[in-house]
Amino acid sequence: MNIHEYQGKEILRNYGVAVPNGKVAFSVEEAVEAAKELGTDVCVVKAQIHAGGRGKAGGVKVAKNLDEVRTYAEEILGKTLVTHQTGPEGKEVKRLLIEEGCDIQKEYYIGFVLDRATSRVVLMASEEGGTEIEEVAEKTPEKIFKEYIDPVLGLMPYQARRIAFNINIPKELVNKAVKFMTGLYTVFVEKDASVAEINPLVVTGDGNVMALDAKINFDSNALYRHKDIMEYRDLEEEDPKEIEASKYDLSYISLDGNIGCMVNGAGLAMSTMDIIKHYGGDPANFLDVGGGATAEKVTEAFKIILSDKNVKGIFVNIFGGIMKCDVIASGVVEAAKQVGLSVPLVVRLEGTNVDLGKKILSESDIDVVPADSMADGAQKIVELVGK
Ligand code: ADP
Ligand code: MG
Repeated sequence: MNIHEYQGKEILRNYGVAVPNGKVAFSVEEAVEAAKELGTDVCVVKAQIHAGGRGKAGGVKVAKNLDEVRTYAEEILGKTLVTHQTGPEGKEVKRLLIEEGCDIQKEYYIGFVLDRATSRVVLMASEEGGTEIEEVAEKTPEKIFKEYIDPVLGLMPYQARRIAFNINIPKELVNKAVKFMTGLYTVFVEKDASVAEINPLVVTGDGNVMALDAKINFDSNALYRHKDIMEYRDLEEEDPKEIEASKYDLSYISLDGNIGCMVNGAGLAMSTMDIIKHYGGDPANFLDVGGGATAEKVTEAFKIILSDKNVKGIFVNIFGGIMKCDVIASGVVEAAKQVGLSVPLVVRLEGTNVDLGKKILSESDIDVVPADSMADGAQKIVELVGK
């Protein structure tokens, strides 16, 4: 789960990790009020969306007085920001962070992520802060330093010091940088984060080391033990189709393609996406209806797929084990009846009650293209959508 920058900074503050003072605002009036309360000469008006790259897209503005705060708040609130992380459709700004202007001496990058190859948390840092770290990694990988953290020992002070020296933090501020990294690591571990990225981490004119940006993601499987983090969830930032799917306990992830997939089992869902790609198509989603789905659940899943405007065809690929083919067939028929089926539908059924399932489909008045195998079904749907 992703949260907003201002929420991430709230967590950091609670852990003694230095961040500038700031306040969230939902309206222009609140923004001006927040700036007054901060009482600093310079304020920064920052769009709060679940995506980075806001600065370049005009979502971060430095205001020198209250009038400028008002002007920028009016400009940014309600605007659709298109950044390299939002996709071409962008994201509408509904919240602002009004923050103390900071006297930046230099920008750095610090991040904790889980490294799957070593099964350890890795601390990554670079002197090239503020810019896209992906670009640094590609063009000048030698400018990124890493420390792999032993899960029993945690982040050792010598590791944090080595990072601070490698990225050239001024000598007199190394201790502050070490304290910063240690605090951020504690947040990462205690809150079950999957990413904690500070870009930029800055050294300020008055000799502080602080986080000017904060991107923290959490492991959704651990959220049950973090009620406080759950409170931060902003449904407006999430794909409505994914929210709808989560209500019915369906594993659904929206993708960029145009072939809707309904599959049971995560492994089969992955290989279905692979085989669609193999035949030159593009899946519109990952959807695992699970093992013990009811006809109602299948109907809802089908409706979610159909609500995606990009979907130009649907491939239902089911291996009936615990899940019975007739349940899937009834769900598909019911959904088509409720919402109407306007795109080609290819169905491949195998396993428990397959004959009954096929019978239900062929006796219904919906237009189904049957497939004999996964490969056959994938080829058929790719061809139908391509027309
Ligand atoms: P994004 O990564 O989405 O572009 P950031 O929060 O990193 O957004 O802000 C972009 C840039 O704006 C930063 O690299 C920094 O130079 C500047 N900036 C952000 N917050 C402040 C602040 N409080 N004071 C001064 N400059 C800031
Ligand atoms: Mg940033």
